Amino acid sequence: MEDTIAGISTAVGNAGLAVIRMSGGKAFEIADMVFRGREKVVSQKSHTLQYGRIVTDDGEIVDEVLLTKMAAPRTYTREDVVEISCHGGYYVTGSILNLLIEKGARPAEPGEFTKRAFLNGRIDLSQAEAVMDVIQARTSKSSRAALSQLEGKLSSELNAIIDGLTNTLAHIEVDLDYPEYDHEELSMKQVEDEAKKAMSHLDRLIESFHYGKILREGMDVVIIGRPNTGKSSLLNYLTRKNRAIVTDIPGTTRDVIEETVNIGGIPIKLTDTAGVRETEDPVESIGVARSLEALKKADLVLLLLDATDWQGEEDKRLSELVKAHQEHFITVFNKMDLVKDESTVQEIMKQNPDAVLVSIKAETGLDVLEKRLIDFALGNKMDLDNQVLVTNARHEQQLRLACGALESALEAIRSGMTLDIVALELKTALEHLGRITGQTADEEIINAIFSRFCIGK
Ligand code: GDP
Ligand code: ZN
Repeated sequence: MEDTIAGISTAVGNAGLAVIRMSGGKAFEIADMVFRGREKVVSQKSHTLQYGRIVTDDGEIVDEVLLTKMAAPRTYTREDVVEISCHGGYYVTGSILNLLIEKGARPAEPGEFTKRAFLNGRIDLSQAEAVMDVIQARTSKSSRAALSQLEGKLSSELNAIIDGLTNTLAHIEVDLDYPEYDHEELSMKQVEDEAKKAMSHLDRLIESFHYGKILREGMDVVIIGRPNTGKSSLLNYLTRKNRAIVTDIPGTTRDVIEETVNIGGIPIKLTDTAGVRETEDPVESIGVARSLEALKKADLVLLLLDATDWQGEEDKRLSELVKAHQEHFITVFNKMDLVKDESTVQEIMKQNPDAVLVSIKAETGLDVLEKRLIDFALGNKMDLDNQVLVTNARHEQQLRLACGALESALEAIRSGMTLDIVALELKTALEHLGRITGQTADEEIINAIFSRFCIGK
């Protein structure tokens, strides 16, 4: 890669400071054409900072800056890198970038710095994708999951599986190609064991995606209940208490209302539905249809009931509707402050042993509800700090395909097929795993991934 690229690596707009990054064979040379410091950049010691000025050909000073020189290969891209810390704002950053381009650098494409790091073998594809996840992570937990992927935890776990399968495959191929060669032939049992071992690892990774996805994209929680059970109040309470991350309130009150909050480090998207009822009112029925759709695709549903009035026909139908369309729901009894006699409380608990009893008005029971949300999101079985989490849908898909190929390999063994058929399936599995790490990913996939990055990264 001969050309030298340059881009603004910090957020565009008015800020105190900005960083302009340049990478490639001519980075030091180009820097010397616009930078005036105590020392020439070419002769500056690597991995040091130098104070100086960016100056135009006419001698006009553009900005006072700090220039960092990093010589290949110990750099982000493994190429020569120069980083210029200048004052923020469109004018200064734009002027400096233009000067660098005038002197021979090319504007970097989105993600191109990271793409070079990948192409130069510093990181693999799953790590490159993690770079983007770290940038976009919205809570502490999701950023931790992305960071561990960036450190290569997923890659090293995958590489162990890949190595095992590759060895087996190589052994099979020797057996097939050189039957006369005197060596220990691999038994079907050994192949079977290796495939099973790989599958159980892959299964665990695939399972982690449920939590990985929640950490990355957040958990989709839909609040459903008759009118006046307290849906808006609950949404407001959780939003007020857990700083909203994104606000998205569509036009009418009949519409679904969404709010993303941070509960215990997990991004949770709460959706308040209009009451789900059978109705003649056309506007309301649109609300109902949308509510049903939201109910179906939610990760979790909160069925909100009024503790002073929960045995009616309407609530029974609502409860059946939820059970018919959702595997995961929590029944919440609200307005417990209005329930004065103990026998009603007993009755509610007897009939709904898993329910959470709250009063939004008196603010009781809500911490229990929050804890239930967190437990569901993290699933107590996952040890988040030690388990490698798959957070990326593309990775999950390839893992599933690899698992499918191993399943076929085992099937082939069971039905007495010859080793060459088994070998084909193992190869397919390896190909899918290689698409995650980038070993077998084609140009198109790689370009699609990097084009989603921001410029300067
Ligand atoms: P929605 O129609 O389901 O969205 O219900 P709202 O949140 O608008 O609440 C309906 C009414 O119930 C409002 O007057 C709230 O103040 C009231 N409400 C909500 N939660 C409680 C509660 O825990 N106790 C009492 N006493 N009233 C509540
Ligand atoms: Zn409401």
